[in-house]
Amino acid sequence: MKMPLITDIQKFSLHDGPGIRTTVFLKGCPLNCPWCHNPETLNPEPEIYFYERKCTTCGLCVEVCSAGALEIIQNSDKKALLSIDRGKCTGCLECVDVCNSDALEVVGKSMEMSTLVQELIADKVFYESSGGGVTISGGEPLIYPEFVHELARILKKENTHVTVQTCCFVKWEKIEPLLDVVDLFIIDIKTMSPDKHKDYIGGSLQVILSNIERLINSKAGVRIHLPIIPEFNDSATDFETYVEYLGQFADRLAGVDLIPYHSYASGKYAQLVRNYDYIDVPDLPSHRLIPLADSLREKGICDVTVGGLD
Ligand code: SF4
Ligand code: SF4
Repeated sequence: MKMPLITDIQKFSLHDGPGIRTTVFLKGCPLNCPWCHNPETLNPEPEIYFYERKCTTCGLCVEVCSAGALEIIQNSDKKALLSIDRGKCTGCLECVDVCNSDALEVVGKSMEMSTLVQELIADKVFYESSGGGVTISGGEPLIYPEFVHELARILKKENTHVTVQTCCFVKWEKIEPLLDVVDLFIIDIKTMSPDKHKDYIGGSLQVILSNIERLINSKAGVRIHLPIIPEFNDSATDFETYVEYLGQFADRLAGVDLIPYHSYASGKYAQLVRNYDYIDVPDLPSHRLIPLADSLREKGICDVTVGGLD
């Protein structure tokens, strides 16, 4: 069984499924959304976070980096700073070990299944009182189908509600075995345009929609997340296409959550020393999504939220 790296375990999460939840984030994703809010989960391998404000530019990390990915340079104000060349980095993590200033941190840690389960069920009392549970998220958890199945199976034995948050861009054969152990699938649809999907995000929209329809026809719990991104999928035509498509399944969806774009992730891109194409894009005000929410409700989808599950 391929074990994923884990980037975070978030307690008391209120937006990743019903009730109070613990969300575990797995590292690795087959898509590449340019606005991704969890860029640390894209690469399945361990990476380094760099906290520039903590760096004393001592140069110890430069000395141990055999890949030549690190260099102390001077910026235009003649201030010394550490430069990281992500293209050269092999992920050996030697630099993290020698940094005495905690300026470098590993993102992505391996965990034994038993340790993970213990941590995930530690808040069971809150799940029981709120109708919550555990959410397996990412990245894309379904690139680790055996791991997700085993984790969900153990959690179900613990009488814990299991949600999987997925883009559904995997073969149906990897999803089908989960029907017995997953209570709710939360699925992102980033656009209804196959060409835009392929060109901007990667991956086939057809595969995703086919999986969504098979899940619905299998009577699985399905909730749809629509991340609404300025000038990508926020036009009247985009909204109409979403309403037309989702309206077909109105009485069989657990709900639809409209997620307006926000720029909270820009700090993560800086820590990963990665370019963020959306750095200058302003947050999308929630009120822009009210007409879309109203149209979805008119189609008969009862539970439509703006900003996530409440
Ligand atoms: S070892 Fe740490 S403090 Fe020293 S240059 Fe590298 S990142 Fe900065
Ligand atoms: S993790 Fe990357 S930057 Fe750090 S020492 Fe290894 S190759 Fe160099």
